[in-house]
Amino acid sequence: MTILDEILALEEYKGLSPAEFFYRNREIAGFSNPTRALYQTVRELVENSLDATEMFGILPDIYVEVEEINPKENVVSVRVRDNGIGVPPEEAPNVFGRVFYGSKYKLRQSRGIFGLGVKMAVLYAQMTTGKPCEIRTATPKSDYIYSFKILIDISKNKPIIVSKRKEKNTKRWHGTDVRLILEGNWSGSKNRIAEYIKRTAMIAPYANITFRGPGVELIFKRVTKKLPEPPETGKPHPKGVDIELLKQLISGFKNLKEDPPTLQEFLVTCFDSVGTITARRFLEWAGFDPNVRIDKLRIRDLEKLARRMKEYNEWRRPRATPLSPLGEDLLMKGVKEILKAEFVTAVTRKPASYGGHPFIVEVALAWGGEIKPMERPLLLRFANKIPLLYDEGADVSRKVVDNIDWNQYKVKMPAPLAVVTHICSTKVPFKGVGKEAIADVPEIEKEIENAIKEAARRLRRYLSKKEKEMEVKVKYVTITKYADEVARALAIITKRDKEIYLKAIERLVETRILKRGARIKARVRRR
Ligand code: ADP
Ligand code: MG
Repeated sequence: MTILDEILALEEYKGLSPAEFFYRNREIAGFSNPTRALYQTVRELVENSLDATEMFGILPDIYVEVEEINPKENVVSVRVRDNGIGVPPEEAPNVFGRVFYGSKYKLRQSRGIFGLGVKMAVLYAQMTTGKPCEIRTATPKSDYIYSFKILIDISKNKPIIVSKRKEKNTKRWHGTDVRLILEGNWSGSKNRIAEYIKRTAMIAPYANITFRGPGVELIFKRVTKKLPEPPETGKPHPKGVDIELLKQLISGFKNLKEDPPTLQEFLVTCFDSVGTITARRFLEWAGFDPNVRIDKLRIRDLEKLARRMKEYNEWRRPRATPLSPLGEDLLMKGVKEILKAEFVTAVTRKPASYGGHPFIVEVALAWGGEIKPMERPLLLRFANKIPLLYDEGADVSRKVVDNIDWNQYKVKMPAPLAVVTHICSTKVPFKGVGKEAIADVPEIEKEIENAIKEAARRLRRYLSKKEKEMEVKVKYVTITKYADEVARALAIITKRDKEIYLKAIERLVETRILKRGARIKARVRRR
């Protein structure tokens, strides 16, 4: 045997389970070190709790607690409890113990997307302290509350149920309470976590959020009981299609053999924004017979169909019903409450799309009050209601904000200005699975720019009104400062009473300056 033969004989071939992949590459999901991992754990649990409440019309009550169990060894526990829809007992082991398992693989806006987040936290806890994930959960109307302790069998990507219990649900509670014990650096992540909670409260002004950690307590009471419209489940848009998706959709027809739809019916039924007329026009353009049965399509046809669907430019825009933006009113409420600014304005743009994915951009500008003047505007980024705290420099919003000529809007740096950007989409183009920065897709970039400019024009109006009021004030102060002296001088020259001149000046100030000031105010308001 040569050395090469020996090496080859030793080489083993095997598949890698998804759990093992993420166990080995945890940094790509944001679990690179004890500081980042603690922050990410809080984030994953809080985001699941918010999804489990507001997406189902429940006003969120969320309790988050970090405890230092063994500070010398950086052992901490994270607990998040919500009043959401809970997890059915038969699903609980998989949703907490199997990577790529979840209920959000649907075409609608949610914080979670991959069915991965909480499992990364469970995996990280398991590998750093060996402790299982503890869950207590009940669905609405459930007679029992179920408790589980779960570990992950990494090589098989399957849950290990360490223990399972049930107790009577006497108070008809529903929700989920998750606790993890992991290696985490509290002092390193404390500020980020506090910031994350604060920003979450900003983008969810309808939520009660309580956070307790060693030396920190944050309580955010809801400022409104209005929830954003929950997202509806959508269909794929023809622009975003590929051969695999076509195959999947075709195989979704149960009676494919007995009662196969025609190609035209298939397009109308399975795709977003495609009616009979659009389908017919497209099929003619693409060179397909609208009446061909879909079970007769070969792979060659599917390849051509997918290509032509992508090329066609006459599709209607994807519908925005799977999105759930905050809306100008709620966004303003949230920003005002958290930033304590003097002036806040918000813009929610009309739906737009990129590559067949609908998106909506929302922007708020906040000025003055407790915002500190800075050389660049303070930027607060959100995507699908998730605050983004890392990788700001790589994000499309930073680029747009830095390219705006703020002078045009009467903003002179350093200025007490904060820009809030929120991008909602069924597919936010994140730069990684850690979900921290948004890529510069031109369509999104343009919408952010337009939204900021619209809001900035309102800010300019506010600032010029303020400027004019200031001018009036200065004039008033100057004139009244010299009034007495002028009146006295005039009285001496004309040998008349000083009071007459004082009154005259007062009248002058009233009519010429103060009334004019009021007129300016009214004019600005009318605009
Ligand atoms: P994702 O959030 O991307 O779907 P996760 O691994 O974070 O992935 O969660 C998996 C699934 O577990 C979710 O899709 C949801 O069905 C369920 N789940 C997790 N946390 C909760 C919770 N607090 N309440 C209800 N369901 C939850
Ligand atoms: Mg999640």
